[in-house]
Amino acid sequence: VYVVTEACVDVQDKSCMEECPADCIFEGGRMTYINPDLCIDCGACVSLCPVEAIYYDAELPSDQEQYIELNERFFAGVQ
Ligand code: SF4
Repeated sequence: VYVVTEACVDVQDKSCMEECPADCIFEGGRMTYINPDLCIDCGACVSLCPVEAIYYDAELPSDQEQYIELNERFFAGVQ
């Protein structure tokens, strides 16, 4: 599953939202989030992001690992 990370905060370029074939990227308060239940792992969003905020979960930089949970929580409605 792909994950949006800190670089998106207050940027929200949204190029990814327009191109995602699964329509699983949504606008949150200060960033966008990928719904992990809907992402089909196509990887299309990665190169579209002007701030390189999107990573495959297994390849996340260690200081961004909390964003896996933040993306999940956004769709669980807990945030
Ligand atoms: Fe959408 Fe593909 Fe990115 Fe998943 S990897 S969020 S399906 S564009």
